Amino acid sequence: MSTEPRIAVCPGSYDPITNGHIDIITRASKLFDEVIVAVVNASVRKSKALFTAERRIDFIEEATAHLDNVRAEPFDVLLVDFAHQKGAVAIVKGLRAISDFEYETEMTQLNRHLASDLESVFIMASPQYSFLSSSGVKELAIFGGDVSELVPKHVEGPLKEALAR
Ligand code: ADP
Repeated sequence: MSTEPRIAVCPGSYDPITNGHIDIITRASKLFDEVIVAVVNASVRKSKALFTAERRIDFIEEATAHLDNVRAEPFDVLLVDFAHQKGAVAIVKGLRAISDFEYETEMTQLNRHLASDLESVFIMASPQYSFLSSSGVKELAIFGGDVSELVPKHVEGPLKEALAR
């Protein structure tokens, strides 16, 4: 057996991090030696993010400060290239619904085509978060809905402020 640390990347927009993301990251941190939460830098996406990548990373770092083997980093290259640069063995994704499954099946096959050495690992959403997405949270918050059980405390205030602008 290799003694190299087993590193996983958990990619996403995290705009902003929700309790559903934290659940997946926490569970991944128990399976791997190191987990890198890879934050998509907005420039490669068509839709503009609410928060800058730096801000999204700060939110993630505060939410995962108690997990010693988790860190967050931005990326703006192909995910498989980022994973290779970091020496990762796996890409970890959360699965909520059939719609996630369809999208992730396609992404997994494309990533496998590019890098057959990287394993994609899927963690099923916990039931209480299976409906939760960053876009849903933003939608609720825009209309004054209570998001206190959906995002960490340190995200709730900045989220309301950003959406009020
Ligand atoms: P979102 O769909 O919330 O904008 P991201 O693009 O930031 O999510 O997703 C990052 C990863 O986290 C993806 O693998 C996504 O499927 C997963 N994920 C997002 N929300 C949840 C949740 N509530 N439960 C489990 N996995 C989730």
